[in-house]
Amino acid sequence: MYPTDRPRRLRSDGIRPLVSESSLSASDLVAPVFVDATTDERVPIESMPGHERVPVEEAVARVEEVRDTGVEAVILFGIPETKDPEGTRAYAADGVVQRAIRRISESTDAYVIGDVCLCEYTDHGHCGVIEEDAETDPTLTVRNDETLELLAETAVSQADAGADMVAPSAMADGQVGAIRSALDDAGHEDVALMSYAAKYESAFYGPFRDAADGAPAFGDRRHYQMDPANRREALREARLDAEAGADVLMVKPGLPYLDVVSDLRREFDRPIAAYNVSGEYAMLHAAAEKGWLDLEAVAYESLLSLKRAGADLIVTYFAEDLADRL
Ligand SMILES: [Zn+2]
Repeated sequence: MYPTDRPRRLRSDGIRPLVSESSLSASDLVAPVFVDATTDERVPIESMPGHERVPVEEAVARVEEVRDTGVEAVILFGIPETKDPEGTRAYAADGVVQRAIRRISESTDAYVIGDVCLCEYTDHGHCGVIEEDAETDPTLTVRNDETLELLAETAVSQADAGADMVAPSAMADGQVGAIRSALDDAGHEDVALMSYAAKYESAFYGPFRDAADGAPAFGDRRHYQMDPANRREALREARLDAEAGADVLMVKPGLPYLDVVSDLRREFDRPIAAYNVSGEYAMLHAAAEKGWLDLEAVAYESLLSLKRAGADLIVTYFAEDLADRL
């Protein structure tokens, strides 16, 4: 008589697809693209196999490569020609990202997202304007309210260039509200906003810092990014951003924070994004290189897990490779 209930009945090949609870498709994915003002040829990123920084002249070609795989959305990061304490190249009309966005939106149908932060543009590598003695006093870092203005300026300059969406990632309190109202004042009511709502101070960002040359010159980001120990706080962050007008709420990193993705999915009626970060990508590649893991299989399972946890869209360095297979 035992067992009466047999879950295995629903695992035969004929019915598995009918009862599958999650799925992954190319239209769920956003591919990061790095545009570099310091080079006139493509430069491979060593810790992120298969990825490159491209000069502005190559930005359209790079985005076309992404679209050829079926992925329609890109998020742009810039490496400027020069850096300074205020990150002025982040919000310059002729900044590297603004020039790239202009070209991409003029000559492709890609959905273009601009990452909005200052850390790639400041000489100290922090995500905003820093306190005077920050270099010597580890309790000091970014001045929140002064930074808001510069983030808003950055977002508006990207929207002016043709961005469809801006994605503030500086973890400054009030950044979503400041950016939303600046966009609206500039006539960009239709530009969407995806907030990095729960962005953790994570060691999984290592390879990205190679790619975007954005490691802090001193100190770390623990005074503005979230403590990896905290789960409830992510709801607080997300609520503040939703109330300030964020259209999409993001959790970053992805895999180590599936509980947070799941919480946000349950608590909010907005789309949830997950950022499958550079370290998540690099560690699978490293293990595959050793022959320890099947890269394609673990990449697929990783992204499917993010969908299962509740993510609607995923920013991932695997976008092109997986989309090709989906
Ligand atoms: Zn930053």
